[in-house]
Amino acid sequence: MIKAVFPGSFDPIHNGHVDIAKRASRLVDELVIAVYDKPLKNFLFSPEERIDMVKKVFLNDSKITVTGYSGITVHFCQQIGAQVMIRGLRVFSDFEYEFRMALANHRIEPEVEVMALITSEEHTFLSSSTVREISSLGGNVSTMVPEHVKIALDAKFNTPGNDQRVIPSHSIRD
Ligand code: ADP
Repeated sequence: MIKAVFPGSFDPIHNGHVDIAKRASRLVDELVIAVYDKPLKNFLFSPEERIDMVKKVFLNDSKITVTGYSGITVHFCQQIGAQVMIRGLRVFSDFEYEFRMALANHRIEPEVEVMALITSEEHTFLSSSTVREISSLGGNVSTMVPEHVKIALDAKFNTPGNDQRVIPSHSIRD
């Protein structure tokens, strides 16, 4: 029985994340999508909003559950009895970051294996920050995110009276 955790900020979830989660779930018995709150990051959506948006995507998928967590990811994996952590890889810069994280995590908790899946070609450019920026500038993100996420982004950026602006994220990896 293989249980895996797919951790991330999911601010918000986009089609690249959905693709990785679906492909990973075919390789394991149970996949827990774990939505975390990094204190150093400025999130657009609250933890509750991000969890809710991820849950809506996988409502009918019996292998996938969604939960929030905080703290060290490999500790969370251990707590819930997951042997594997799933990550998605886009470009070379992802590799360097994920490589460092995998080694650090292995040092902290050698029992948890990191499994990295290569992004599907059509999602190579997709990131939550790209989606946020395009949406904040009035661009159409309907080919990048599930419908309910687009509605949530429109509500954040376009609703009259809602003056929330995107935080320039050039310096934020995500
Ligand atoms: P984090 O803050 O952990 O990077 P994200 O929500 O940005 O959280 O990403 C969660 C995981 O999804 C990471 O492993 C990231 O590399 C992966 N990921 C993000 N975008 C894509 C994409 N377009 N294709 C494949 N994997 C992706």
